[in-house]
Amino acid sequence: MKTEKDKNIPYKVYLSEDELPKNWYNVRADMKTKPAPLLNPGTGAPMDYEDLRSVFCDELIRQELDNDDREIPIPEEILNFYKMYRPSPLVRAYCLEEKLQTPAKIYYKFEGNNTSGSHKLNSAIAQAYYAKKQGLKGVTTETGAGQWGTALSMACAYFGLDCKVFMVKVSYEQKPFRREVMRTYGASVTPSPSMTTAVGRKILEENPGTTGSLGCAISEAVETEAANPGYRYVLGSVLNQVLLHQSVIGLETMAAFKKLGVKPDIVIGCAGGGSNLGGLISPFMGEKLRGEQDYRFIAVEPASCPSFTRGKFAYDFCDTGRVCPLAKMYTLGSGFIPSANHAGGLRYHGMSPILSELYHEGLIEARSVEQTSVFDAATTFARCEGILPAPESSHAIRAAIDEALKCKETGEEKNIVFGLTGTGYFDMVAYQKYNDGEMTDTIPTDEELQRSLAQLPAVPGQN
Ligand SMILES: *Cc1c(COP(=O)(O)O)cnc(C)c1O
Repeated sequence: MKTEKDKNIPYKVYLSEDELPKNWYNVRADMKTKPAPLLNPGTGAPMDYEDLRSVFCDELIRQELDNDDREIPIPEEILNFYKMYRPSPLVRAYCLEEKLQTPAKIYYKFEGNNTSGSHKLNSAIAQAYYAKKQGLKGVTTETGAGQWGTALSMACAYFGLDCKVFMVKVSYEQKPFRREVMRTYGASVTPSPSMTTAVGRKILEENPGTTGSLGCAISEAVETEAANPGYRYVLGSVLNQVLLHQSVIGLETMAAFKKLGVKPDIVIGCAGGGSNLGGLISPFMGEKLRGEQDYRFIAVEPASCPSFTRGKFAYDFCDTGRVCPLAKMYTLGSGFIPSANHAGGLRYHGMSPILSELYHEGLIEARSVEQTSVFDAATTFARCEGILPAPESSHAIRAAIDEALKCKETGEEKNIVFGLTGTGYFDMVAYQKYNDGEMTDTIPTDEELQRSLAQLPAVPGQN
């Protein structure tokens, strides 16, 4: 499969321990227009450090609000944990290229090589570290498909913190093994909506048969944090701090490409709340923003939850219960509940404010893809490259294959890299549906989206 011309490019590039990033990279430092601040849902005023202290850990708030420091040192305790599963490999997909008969060169950064099975551990360990350092007892959070809850329970176990996870009910029931992984790491897992919170009881009263949503689980986790002294709420995506931690992905990718002497032309990632994509592209975007290099960036989202491609750039609630701060982002409306597609990690109504601003400025492209074509790509990839990809990650595979096929038509030898964010072992019900020919695509109608966007909050001078 490797041709003569490529003989200097190995199948995999690993960095040595000394070559691992020692700082996270904060792309906001290089953005001319900074992402819009979070607003207080009651008063509409920008939230400062003091406003956020009752919800988030102190050091994480500093990171959330820091638009200026380009490099943030990674504490040694976190570097040590990273060394247990990082660097993640940058892999040249020679077999996939051969299968597609494309002149393009395809690379992927594989983040599924840890027990949580996804990139989410990169931020979970950082958030648990800062909670521990502040002397807290524990943290609360929500999880949809279960990857974030798993990553956080691993991180909390490592630092001896209590971890309370609200898991979207449909996943709790469909993925009992995910739940058991979390419990094995010592977390308590509650199906959401639950009777343990006022917001959960209200949602159940209004909608007794509901199988839950991420926005609803967030509301429950925040309420539980507020009711338990010594606890804070943590979130696995969307926030600026999470993109900061995930920059480790992009920094390693860039270092590996520099080692190879290769410059990627197109950088692709799936986009749920934007953390893996933001982390992967950050250092490359920095070069683009500083005018040093040019790259194309492509965000790939499900057609069933198309925040970038069909959403509105506006202030919105981060949760269904409307208790969280307002964020300015591409959103489908906080009441939007996507159809039951199988990429649980991509079923969020909003998007990272950083990526939203970059997309608004035309610095990132976005496309949406339907899940049957996503599983076509996943299956092709699994058969050539061996790794069984997560449905979320397979959105990026779909776009990478499509770009490689375009190169086949034009004869261009582009370098394409995509983020392979995780493995799909807990998604076999989805693969079963696909293999049995029972998978369908549900795309929201314009009317549905309009209905949900009509509920956006009124924000003077903004929406
Ligand atoms: C959560 C998740 C995603 C999507 O989240 P982002 O914050 O957009 O990165 C993608 N892939 C996997 C495997 C996930 O677990």
